[in-house]
Amino acid sequence: MAERIVVVGASLAGLRAAESARKSGFTGEVVLVGAEEHLPYDRPPLSKAFLTGPSDVRSPEPFRTRRQLAELGVELRLGRRALGLDAAGRSVVLDDGELPFDRAVIATGAYARPLPGATGDDRIHLLRTWDDAVRLRSRLRPGARVLVVGAGFIGSEIASSALSLGCEVTVVEAGQWPLERALGAEMGLACVELHRRAGVAVHLGTAVHNIEPHDDGLTARLSNGVSLAVDLVVVGIGASPNTAWLDGSGVAVEDGAVCDAGLETTVPGVFAAGDVARWHDPAAGHTVRLENWTNAAEQGALAGRRAAGMPSTPYAPVAYFWSDWHSTRIQMLGTSAADEVVVLDGNPADGEWVAAYRRGDRVVGVLSVARPSETMKYRRLVASRAPWSDLLAFAKERVARRLAVN
Ligand SMILES: Cc1cc2nc3c(=O)[nH]c(=O)nc-3n(C[C@H](O)[C@H](O)[C@H](O)COP(=O)(O)OP(=O)(O)OC[C@H]3O[C@@H](n4cnc5c(N)ncnc54)[C@H](O)[C@@H]3O)c2cc1C
Repeated sequence: MAERIVVVGASLAGLRAAESARKSGFTGEVVLVGAEEHLPYDRPPLSKAFLTGPSDVRSPEPFRTRRQLAELGVELRLGRRALGLDAAGRSVVLDDGELPFDRAVIATGAYARPLPGATGDDRIHLLRTWDDAVRLRSRLRPGARVLVVGAGFIGSEIASSALSLGCEVTVVEAGQWPLERALGAEMGLACVELHRRAGVAVHLGTAVHNIEPHDDGLTARLSNGVSLAVDLVVVGIGASPNTAWLDGSGVAVEDGAVCDAGLETTVPGVFAAGDVARWHDPAAGHTVRLENWTNAAEQGALAGRRAAGMPSTPYAPVAYFWSDWHSTRIQMLGTSAADEVVVLDGNPADGEWVAAYRRGDRVVGVLSVARPSETMKYRRLVASRAPWSDLLAFAKERVARRLAVN
């Protein structure tokens, strides 16, 4: 009988896993299971171009058509949810029966965390899926008073989109140092200034105590004593991995499906990829879970190769993500876990700069804001953790070149 790979989660990581299993020469069955009814689609536009774009788009643009997937020999089970994984019986338990596998890939991603106590009113939104985005878009009318809870990347992108649609936008963030984990405290704060410059009201170090519904709106009571009357609330306080279905399966879960450096979970032959995966990162020396596009694509491809029987290779990425707010692209390469961050070019006060992160005498990360052509120029230095002195010399050369062109 033909061997079967079952991929659970039909989004970016799952699709890449299915495709790369085929590209690796796997000739058995590949089944892609997804809880959403839609073909795999891209999430980043949901908080950006989709919210601000034409409102007559009826379905998400898929990464691949049904026909392309059929040609690739990928069988789709959309609108089907995995309820469990039976490691001994080698099957995934779906809501319509069991699906046996020889090898499996867990790519169930993450869900947007709701604000405790603030659910059950359709004017309080989360944003993770196309369906969430359609609901939110219908409410973002000019003049609407919008409260965004959370100044992370997704909250910030929503604030930016809402502002550009003519809404009156307030962002409330419980932490004093927004984006600290991703960008470091200083750079996170500098990015939040982009909101203030654009006309978004920002309250840092402020929690939402409660949200009271009324016929004509909502009142958000904040920990700083302020009461805000708004038309809608969008909660962007982070995401948690979709792992409940793995309870009792033998796959170890610790804020994500735990895997080794080659993305194999604690159940042999079962791999994990994307936002749901917590893998042993040899460079960091501990396990890491990332929530970004590039990671989901790259891990998906590796998990697919492993499921197809290719030998283990450690997943050792140069982490990269981007975000777009107020017509400004923010890009981060590597890590912000550093001893020092130094602005190399430009000035945060002008909303345009490049900064580097130093750990010991090595460069470990580079951030660029509104300098999209610069980021990848530094990739080689970040990838090799080059000496800090090399980074400074390279940056000097780049600045001189830029000034000569201008
Ligand atoms: C609004 C938004 C904007 C973003 N913008 C950026 C950006 O600008 N830059 C960037 O780098 N990253 C961005 N990201 C993050 C990026 O989109 C994610 O990292 C990426 O989608 C992760 O892919 P994934 O396949 O691991 O998981 P997901 O995309 O979360 O997909 C998981 C899939 O699994 C399905 N699933 C879950 N549980 C089950 C189950 N039990 N059975 C079957 N199916 C299940 C889900 O329905 C979902 O379709 C953004 C994310 C969002 C939500």
